[in-house]
Amino acid sequence: MKRIVVIGAGHVGLYVAERLGKKFKSEIKKGHVEVMVIDRNQHMTYQPLLPEAAAGSLSPRHAIIPLRSVLKNCTIVTAEVVNVQHSDKTITVQPATGPSREIEYDDIVVAPGAVSRPLPVPGLAENAIGFKSIGEAIWLRSHVLTRLDVAASTDDPDVRKAALRFVTVGGGFAGCEAMAELQDAVHAIIKKRYPDLDKNELEWYLIEATGRIMPEVGPQMGAYAARQLTKRGVDIRLETVMKSCENGHVVLADGDEFDCDTIIWTAGVMPTPMLKDTDLPLGPKGHVIGNTRLQVVEEDPENPKENFGKPVEGAWTAGDCAQIPDTTDFPLPYCTPSAQHAVRQAPILADNIYAAYLNSELKAYEHKYIGSVAGLGLYKGVAHVYGMKVKGFMAWMMHRGYHLMKVPGIGRRSRILIDWLVTSLSSREMAQLSEIEEGRRPFEAIAQGEKPYRTVKSGDQ
Ligand SMILES: Cc1cc2nc3c(=O)[nH]c(=O)nc-3n(C[C@H](O)[C@H](O)[C@H](O)COP(=O)(O)OP(=O)(O)OC[C@H]3O[C@@H](n4cnc5c(N)ncnc54)[C@H](O)[C@@H]3O)c2cc1C
Repeated sequence: MKRIVVIGAGHVGLYVAERLGKKFKSEIKKGHVEVMVIDRNQHMTYQPLLPEAAAGSLSPRHAIIPLRSVLKNCTIVTAEVVNVQHSDKTITVQPATGPSREIEYDDIVVAPGAVSRPLPVPGLAENAIGFKSIGEAIWLRSHVLTRLDVAASTDDPDVRKAALRFVTVGGGFAGCEAMAELQDAVHAIIKKRYPDLDKNELEWYLIEATGRIMPEVGPQMGAYAARQLTKRGVDIRLETVMKSCENGHVVLADGDEFDCDTIIWTAGVMPTPMLKDTDLPLGPKGHVIGNTRLQVVEEDPENPKENFGKPVEGAWTAGDCAQIPDTTDFPLPYCTPSAQHAVRQAPILADNIYAAYLNSELKAYEHKYIGSVAGLGLYKGVAHVYGMKVKGFMAWMMHRGYHLMKVPGIGRRSRILIDWLVTSLSSREMAQLSEIEEGRRPFEAIAQGEKPYRTVKSGDQ
């Protein structure tokens, strides 16, 4: 039996596995082929919907897609991949409980994506949160809503000020969308439900090291987004970095400093560190080296920048973890980390695995970047698509329409649509579930003869 293992069920892995499941359907039924998908989570996270999940326009459960509901012909393994020995065609996985397990394969698709890229900023690990997973989106939502209650309930002006300050570091897609959605939600919530709080007390900071925000939508639309956010009260600091945030005290390179309970870190991504525990060829920044046919290739010593090295037999890659040459006129040599590339690379990769199985010719990935759409809160957005610049309500509709089309499964799309309808007809969901962080705690405390609930201290996160 031929086993094809897919590492990571994200924008690449899920779509590759789904297509392989269809292409090899009869071989899978006969037991000649197995498509095995390995992810640490039992779901795919549709990351572009995380800002809306954090802001409450969408139930967080609807921004994830349970793998077993869409990958019908595949074997699903929920475990952490800790090692790949391609020379032996063996991977080691660690399930959540029990011993690690070795799995042999014939072909491997390496698609574990990227993680938030931290920088050596004192206090960052202890005080900031990334924004790449559904857990982070849920945590952030609960945390922000808790801060409103802290501010409304304290009589200490310093505690109140720190609770009502929100800092996002990194002015790309993720950072701007997250900040815009959260700000929109908080404004709407305090207007209706917190008579003790005033919108003008809230302080929103967007810290960006370069001279502009949202490079993904081009300079003109990026400038429009900056104007919109500034008008809404976001203090955008360009060409500035956060020097430290020890004990929640933020120090900026421009000389400003203040206490702040909420720091969101979206200053770039880097390939998943697990790749270093493989014998696959990696580029200078830790990406798996791939060619346009999405095969893993050896680095070509004559031409290290061109991915023309010898293909590594049975190894394929795409998405944020890979450096795939961008053959279009885009100014960067490799495809940028975006869902747009990932979901277009996935079918080509699956087709090439099938073509290799049939000894047919492989196709090359040559997608021209068509632009981007982004939401900036309810009814607001920016888009730069096919050279067309759109802003406001139309761009917001394009943003929602595009992602609704791309989310796999009719059931999931319907749930998202219903959430959106409910949010537009009523107010935003403001229930927060911070108790789940300590789900067992009340019973544990009672069983040990202690008080069931802890006392929340000021600034406690
Ligand atoms: C907030 C946010 C908004 C975004 N908005 C947009 C947008 O509007 N447009 C756009 O084009 N792009 C957007 N992106 C970027 C886009 O989501 C990514 O480029 C895309 O998800 C990359 O796909 P991937 O398959 O390479 O990785 P991912 O989708 O990240 O999938 C990787 C998978 O691998 C799994 N994994 C990782 N390591 C292991 C391991 N060791 N063992 C087991 N499993 C593992 C992970 O659990 C995950 O499921 C956004 C990203 C974020 C964070």
